[in-house]
Amino acid sequence: MAVSSLSATGIRWNLGDLEPDAETARSEWDELLRRARDFATRRRGTVGSAGPQALRELLDELDELQQDISRVHFYATAREHTEAMDAETNDLATLARDRASDLESLLLFVELEWIALSDAEADALLAAGELEPFAHRLRVAREEKPYVLPEGEEQALNARRPAISAWQSLHGRELATLTVEFDGGEGPEPHTIDRLLSYVHHPDRELRIAALETLYVALEQVADVQAACYDALVGDRLSIDRLRGIPNSMDPTNRMNELDGDVVEAMMRAVEENYPLARRWFERKAQVLGLDKLALADQYAPVGSDRRIEWDEAVQMVDDSLTGFAPRLGEIFRECLERGHVDAEPRTGKVGGAYCHSVSKSILPYVLMNYTDRLGDVTTLAHEFGHAVHGALALERQAYRSYHTGLALAEVPSTFTQLLAVEELIQAEEDPSTRAMLLADRIESASAAIFRQTMMARFEQWAYGQRGEGKALTSDRLAGAWLEENARYYADSVELPDGYRLGWSYIPHFIHVRFYTYAYSFAHLVAFTLVARYREDPERFAPAYLDFLASGASRSPQDLLEPLGVDLQNPETWAIAFAEFDRCVAEAEAGVDALDAA
Ligand SMILES: [Zn+2]
Repeated sequence: MAVSSLSATGIRWNLGDLEPDAETARSEWDELLRRARDFATRRRGTVGSAGPQALRELLDELDELQQDISRVHFYATAREHTEAMDAETNDLATLARDRASDLESLLLFVELEWIALSDAEADALLAAGELEPFAHRLRVAREEKPYVLPEGEEQALNARRPAISAWQSLHGRELATLTVEFDGGEGPEPHTIDRLLSYVHHPDRELRIAALETLYVALEQVADVQAACYDALVGDRLSIDRLRGIPNSMDPTNRMNELDGDVVEAMMRAVEENYPLARRWFERKAQVLGLDKLALADQYAPVGSDRRIEWDEAVQMVDDSLTGFAPRLGEIFRECLERGHVDAEPRTGKVGGAYCHSVSKSILPYVLMNYTDRLGDVTTLAHEFGHAVHGALALERQAYRSYHTGLALAEVPSTFTQLLAVEELIQAEEDPSTRAMLLADRIESASAAIFRQTMMARFEQWAYGQRGEGKALTSDRLAGAWLEENARYYADSVELPDGYRLGWSYIPHFIHVRFYTYAYSFAHLVAFTLVARYREDPERFAPAYLDFLASGASRSPQDLLEPLGVDLQNPETWAIAFAEFDRCVAEAEAGVDALDAA
């Protein structure tokens, strides 16, 4: 399909709320640097000694400064993501990266001085009401205290950062530049890894299987390098953990998410106990596709049929879904669209994928996606607006420093909003075949998030355990453990091809943020629980949910979710989520039954 025929043509960002032009942005970076130096000169050494009122003023001033940094920085990022070929854009992006890191170093003293205070000094300051808007973030920051090294050592560790990110870059570059010849039906052409992977959604089974086989052969060329990158990074993280006295390799991620290790472990166990739910669908899907058993290449094969959905209809659906839940959310959605804060047109020079970025208390969030007129794009639009309404409402009520939650909780509103929109699409769909597609897709997205991501976190636990015992993470060892974890999940329901032993080698999360993946399982399960709570009592739920959004990161996930009827300490929470999942499987089964009957 030619890009120009897509319905979101012309839906592009207006960056005027950020900066008028690149020249102004460049001079603003200089001004920000001047402000930060002045701030540091006046405030350095005063964090613990000047009393609660002065500390409040310091934090307010820092909050303002960081919002201006965020605005100017995002202007550069937004241009880089939408016009990668522009020379002015690239210069600005380079300047932004350098300046942002200078600014970070200049402002770091606030956090370090705060952490250096004794518990008694910190408690005395926190007991004063003045610090209330910052209190929770300040408490959380102090949890790092036992693991922070003296300033000189921290600086030495920081100085190693480029060497560490070189491994990450190498891993990414090996994948990004790997292309192989493949015939996707229009003659042999060079294919990237991402393009080969996209065939898993193709209706032609032979093509799906051939694409994966080609992928695995291609990965053979880079597997040893990818393993060496992973081995180096895991080894490095473990040795820094030892220096800092961090006992468990999952702890830093759990602290970032503000989740207890016990809660995460209980969730992962519940996920593993429910692996059979996913297999039930795989077995049913095999019947639908007329197979004895699914091959891995059939996991995301289309069931039923997709249909075109134009941008305007998608906007209407998401608006209806948000407004139906709470009119305030629909208002934010429409205002973002009216102000040009949504970039939906796919085009050359624009990044793939989708994200939402919240800028500051005075600027509405920006959303980027690539709208290709498919039903799945409506889900993406809803997902990103789940983030946007969270950001907008949290920034209305909270300080900038207190609005942004850890990753696990951050994905809860986006997933919840996505589930509401999917429900809306399913209810409105009259074609049984498209309905079956939507129902199947809901299960398969949920399985990918809940089951596969937990399986990956278990694989990482194995990797850190091995490396911790002094065993190198070679390609063969990684392959063995990867197949073992996958077999625990898929069991007899899906045939795993031999080449899949290299399936670990292209997962970027392993390389960038350890144990990142369980956040997706967590968010999807909590979102399922919220859907169940909403259905029980919509009148009571909606205002509590708006309050949850506006609370941002001013409390712990446990305290934020409790008023919504989600108790993270109680294993029953996960049982409610899986009951909801079970309901969705049953609906998907009924959806394909209706196709058989027709
Ligand atoms: Zn998201």
